[in-house]
Amino acid sequence: MTNLYALTPSELGSLVAELGERPFRARQLWKWMYEKRVDDFAAMTDLPKRLIDELGQCASLGSLQSVARQNSADGTEKRLYQLADGQLVESVLMPYDDQRKTACLSTQAGCAMACVFCATGQMGFARNLSAEEIFEQAMLFARELASQGERLSNIVLMGMGEPFHNYEATMHAIRQFMNRLGIGARHITVSTVGLAPQIRRFADEGLQVNLAVSLHKSDDIQRSALMPVNRRWPIDELISACRYYTAATNRRITIEWAAIAGENDTPDEAHKLGRLLAGLLCHVNIIPLNPTDRYRGAPAEHESIDKFRNILKHYEVASTVRLRRGIDIDAGCGQLKTSLIKLDQISG
Ligand code: SAH
Repeated sequence: MTNLYALTPSELGSLVAELGERPFRARQLWKWMYEKRVDDFAAMTDLPKRLIDELGQCASLGSLQSVARQNSADGTEKRLYQLADGQLVESVLMPYDDQRKTACLSTQAGCAMACVFCATGQMGFARNLSAEEIFEQAMLFARELASQGERLSNIVLMGMGEPFHNYEATMHAIRQFMNRLGIGARHITVSTVGLAPQIRRFADEGLQVNLAVSLHKSDDIQRSALMPVNRRWPIDELISACRYYTAATNRRITIEWAAIAGENDTPDEAHKLGRLLAGLLCHVNIIPLNPTDRYRGAPAEHESIDKFRNILKHYEVASTVRLRRGIDIDAGCGQLKTSLIKLDQISG
């Protein structure tokens, strides 16, 4: 079976030629796939019946199999997909009041970064996703929304995995979001644990895609305890890569801060962070910690977050507090995992 989403326009042309059809059929097929976004060859009504039958025999529209879906009381939707080799990944759709529809996608099955507070980090690493597997998660939401007369407007690569640990496939998928789904670069965000060399490489791509950096702590010893990757790329190197990025792109970086009570929400922490970020083109996105099975920290309280933000203001560091979404279905930041329990539920 050939996955048609994996093909370039010219490869699709070759396939259609092999099936004995003229080149314009490939263009029609492309339109059905990417503009009308149908999920079935039979719906491609201007293609000859013979071609539809042949495609049904030798080709597929994607390779992800949806094995579970959950809806949150706040409108957030989560999907669990099985990949061709049996690996599982999750992706999330978040509708906002202003009509935005944001998909949060995975770039790896599991994650090798081992951040202690993150459910995916707690699972360990299985494998990189291919560009098609990343792209298809977006396509599936785009398709579903199109059937309701709506459109996918934003994409964040904040699901399972570390996008910059799977750099090539991630960049390939990003270009497909833009070219094949018509999502503007400014509506796409890549989030990284802080792989400094890839931040520099990303800066040189010449794209308007947003960058988010997960910081969570501003001194090396404590950050290394929460995020082992910090031993490899300590804060100095990370911030210097961030400066390189802002100088090269003139784009503002989002610094992510999962606020953990007593751990990184104190006035002292706010001063340290303010000093670290003062003068960097950035803004801090604070999200109270979401619960995960294997980390005992608690989310920071409103009052401490307010104080924290006021202190950042002294350093002219802007901040926002992110809405927590989908917590009732474990669809919040850092909550994506594909546990054995879930597998039992599927097979049972
Ligand atoms: N690997 C990438 C993207 C995936 S995680 C990265 O680290 O940035 C997306 C965001 O959720 C990151 O900022 C991550 O640090 C944060 N996160 C992880 N676990 C969390 C938790 N339990 N509560 C709140 N945010 C969490």
